[in-house]
Amino acid sequence: MSRATHTCPCGAELRFKQDLEKESGGTVARWNCKQCGTRVPPIVAEKIKHQHPS
Ligand SMILES: [Zn+2]
Repeated sequence: MSRATHTCPCGAELRFKQDLEKESGGTVARWNCKQCGTRVPPIVAEKIKHQHPS
């Protein structure tokens, strides 16, 4: 299984769960860039949140 990465417009490379910030409040969890708060596309976030550095 390949690893998903997402490069945020702020320049941060999002690779692991801890690079994301969960935004709750709705029925669907939203994931944002931890650095700047920009929304991460749900499909990408879904993959990234299962990734941990090892
Ligand atoms: Zn960002």
